[in-house]
Formats: sequence, C-alpha cells, structure tokens
Amino acid sequence: MLGPVILAASRSDKMRRFVSAAPGTKQVVARFIAGETVDDVVPIVRELSERGLEVTLDVVGEDITTVEQSYAARDAYLELIGRLEELGLGERAEMSVKLSMFGQSLDDGHELALANVRPVVEAAAGIGTTVTLDAEDHTTLDSMFAIHEELRKDFPQTGCVIQAYLFRTEDDARRLAANGSRVRIVKGAYKEPASVAIQDKPEIDKAYVRIMKILMEGKGYPMIGSHDPRLISVGQELARRAGRKPDEYEFQMLYGIRSEEQNRLAAEGHRMRVYTAYGTDWYGYFMRRLAEKPANLLFFVRSILTK
Ligand code: FAD
Repeated sequence: MLGPVILAASRSDKMRRFVSAAPGTKQVVARFIAGETVDDVVPIVRELSERGLEVTLDVVGEDITTVEQSYAARDAYLELIGRLEELGLGERAEMSVKLSMFGQSLDDGHELALANVRPVVEAAAGIGTTVTLDAEDHTTLDSMFAIHEELRKDFPQTGCVIQAYLFRTEDDARRLAANGSRVRIVKGAYKEPASVAIQDKPEIDKAYVRIMKILMEGKGYPMIGSHDPRLISVGQELARRAGRKPDEYEFQMLYGIRSEEQNRLAAEGHRMRVYTAYGTDWYGYFMRRLAEKPANLLFFVRSILTK
C-alpha cells in the first residue's frame, strides 16, 4: 500500500525539499546513488569492472523545466563519455538516459529531446559503446519509441526500455523483437492508472514472462532488468530454450541492490550489467527505490529519527 503513496510523493516539490534537507538522507541515498560527480563514479566503474560486471551509467535527473537544463543534461553525458574515453573504460560502460531530462516535456519537446540525445548517442558510438532510452511514465512512450526508431537509423545499437505492467507492452515487444532492437524489459516503476497498466503484482510477473519469451525468441538483444530471483531463473531457461549464447542477452540490476546475486550471475558466465546512477538531482530516482521496497522506507525513516 505504501508504494503508490511514495510514488505520488516522488512528484511533489514540497516532499523533495523536506527529504533533501532531512538529516540522515545522504547516508541512505548513498546506497543507491554512486556519487555526485564524474570523479565519484569513475572508481566505481573500475571496481565493478574488476568484479567482471558491465555498467550502464545514468546521470540522474528528470522533469526539467527550462531549455538550458536540457542542454546541461546533454553536456553532462558528453563530459562523462569524454572521461570514459580518456580512461579507456568506453567498452565497459554504456549510458542510460531519461528523455524528460533532455527536454521531452517542454514546448517542441520531442524535437528538442531528439536534438539533445543525438550527439550523446554519436559520442557513445565514437568510443565503442551505446545508449539505452529509459522508459518513463506512459504519456512519454510514443515519443520515446519514435526517437528510438529515428536514432536506430544511424545507430542501430541504441536500446530502449519496455515495462511489463503496461497493457501496450506485448505489442511493443513484438515490434522491437522483429526489428532486432536492444531491449531492456523491466516491471515498471511509475504510478500508472488501471486504464493503462496491470495493478496486480502476480499478473505483472506473468506478463513479464510472456514478454521475455517474445524477446528471447526474436531477433533483438534482450536485457533482463530485474532483481526477482524467479524471473531471473525463468530468463535463463528461456535463453537456453531459444538457443542463445551468453553474449546474446544479458541481465541488469541496479547499483546497491542484490550485489551478491550480481557477482554470482557474472561468475556463472552471464553478462551482468549494473545500472549505476550518479549526480545531484537524485530525488525522483531515490523515491522510486523506496517505493519498490517498504523496508527501504523504514530504514530511511529510522536514519532520520536517529540523527
Ligand atoms: P521486485 O518484485 O520489485 O523485487 C524483487 C526483489 O528484488 C525484492 O524482493 C527485493 O529483494 C529486491 N529489490 C527490488 N527492488 C529493490 C529496492 N529498491 N531496494 C532493495 N531491494 C529491492 N523502471 C522503469 O519504469 N523504467 C526504466 O527505464 C527502468 N530501468 C531499470 C533498469 C534496471 C537495470 C533495473 C533493474 C530496473 C529498472 N527499472 C525501470 C525499475 C523496474 O521497473 C522495477 O521497479 C524494479 O526493478 C523492481 O522490480 P524487480 O523486477 O526487481 O522486482
């Protein structure tokens, strides 16, 4: 029951100010956010890499309100890509981007987001890596898929994310599996109405399995984004049945969550990528992590009360 309340709070400016200023917040945020700057995140990329893990880097931020902020988002990714190149880490790390941070919800936002994300995708390709477009709330997805299709004309490795809780997603999965896309499948992290999304958790898991099957049997590159042990073992079985080799799909988990399981899958020979978020605008990302697991919220509240 707490999840939807926290997700509603994740869009409230009042709560943003309260949570950001609360004593003890920083300590809890540090579990999920790898740091504030490129300098903070580079050693973490190295460390994950030494553990045999791949990385996808997310400069946190979303729902911006000015065009200048959208340029700043683009520049933050370009700076990151420049640093990865200098350090020879390009092939270990791909990027994940939220188009709302690139201006998607502003006036002429579709064109603005495309114009901002294109140089990032181009720079990533220049260092031998790629970009995945995260999925945000359902109102943004037609634009996200259109931008994905446009970018794939020049950069076919560009990935996108689909969310198992949405009714539309099996159709999206079929289309993306047929055109050979890199696709991350996740359960879905936003507060969505019953008119567009499944509300019952076991039913979301069943949809996730059906969608994994479509992706595994298709022509694309499936990326299984989940910490759920049952879905991970079903994913392994579906990959085996589809005759996929270990480099023809991958698992992905979030930084700070089930690290032992990340190591275990990598040690078993699976490609395992850790979604590593960093930056100062961490509020929305952090609140979604609290909403996913009530124990995180209890830990957070306790850490505020004991400061
Ligand atoms: P759950 O049933 O939620 O969790 C299974 C188990 O994992 C839990 O029992 C718990 O042990 C552990 N766990 C899960 N979440 C947490 C947590 N926050 N803290 C501690 N333990 C936890 N969603 C989007 O809508 N758009 C995206 O673009 C997107 N990208 C993602 C990228 C990656 C790599 C991953 C892993 C998730 C992404 N998500 C995204 C979030 C996703 O939609 C889910 O909200 C999130 O992954 C929780 O679902 P789950 O599959 O892990 O299963």
